[in-house]
Amino acid sequence: MICTSDIMTKSIQLRTKLGEDANSPIDIFALAQDIEQLTIVYYPMGENLSGICLKGAAGNNVISINSSMTVGRQRFSLAHELYHLYFDKNMTAVCAQKIGVGQETEKEADLFASYFLMPAAALQTKVEMLKAKNDSNDLSIYDVIRLEQYFQVSHQAAVIRLRQDKLLNADAADAMISKGVRRLAESIGYSTELYKPLPVEKQYMTYGNYIDQAEQVLKRGLVSDGKYEELLLTAFRSDLVYGDNEEGEEIID
Ligand SMILES: [Zn+2]
Repeated sequence: MICTSDIMTKSIQLRTKLGEDANSPIDIFALAQDIEQLTIVYYPMGENLSGICLKGAAGNNVISINSSMTVGRQRFSLAHELYHLYFDKNMTAVCAQKIGVGQETEKEADLFASYFLMPAAALQTKVEMLKAKNDSNDLSIYDVIRLEQYFQVSHQAAVIRLRQDKLLNADAADAMISKGVRRLAESIGYSTELYKPLPVEKQYMTYGNYIDQAEQVLKRGLVSDGKYEELLLTAFRSDLVYGDNEEGEEIID
C-alpha cells in the first residue's frame, strides 16, 4: 500500500538535502550533476524504458535516462530515478516508460517524481491563481499547459497529477491526457522544447562522476592519454576528445 504523505515527505526531504527550497521549480538536470559519486548517462533506449538506476558497491552510482523521450518526460524520469537512488533498498532498477504502472516501488517512484517536481503546496497555489484569473472553477487545457511549463514536466505527468489531486475531474483528464499540446503551447507564447527530445546528435551524453574519475586517473598517471580518450569516447564524450565542433571562440560572459 503506497503512503502518499510518506512520499510527499520524502520529496521535501530530498529537496532540502540537495539544497532546494520546498516549493520552487527545479532545474533537475543541473541538480543531479552536483550529486557526488553519481554518473548520469543519456542515450536512446527505445520505446519501453524510461531509465535505469544502478547502485555500485563502492558508492559509485549510475543513472541512465532514455534520451529519445521528450525533455519534459526526461525530467520526470530523472526525478523517478532519484527515488531509487535515495529511497529504494534494491541495488538495481529498470524502469518502464508508462507512468503509474508496474510494481509498488515503480508507482512510489512515479509519485515521488511528481511531488519532487510539482510540490503539493506550490501546485495548489498555482491552480488557485489560474482559477481566480479565469473566474472559473475548471482548469482549461491552456491552464494545464501553463502549469506543466511552470514546473517543466511532460503533459501526461501534469494531467495525471492534476487528476490524482482532484484538480481535474476524470472526464476532463481523459480528454486532455492524449492531446498533442505543442501547437497550443506555442500559440500562447511558450517554447516547445519541453515537448520534444533533443536532436539525435545530442541524445548521447555522460556527465558527472565517470568523467571526473577519468580525468583523475589520467592526472595520476594511472592511464595513458590514449586510454583516457578511449574512456571518454566510450562515454559518448567525443566533444572532450576532438572538440565540440562549434564554431568560434568561447564567449566569456
Ligand atoms: Zn523505477
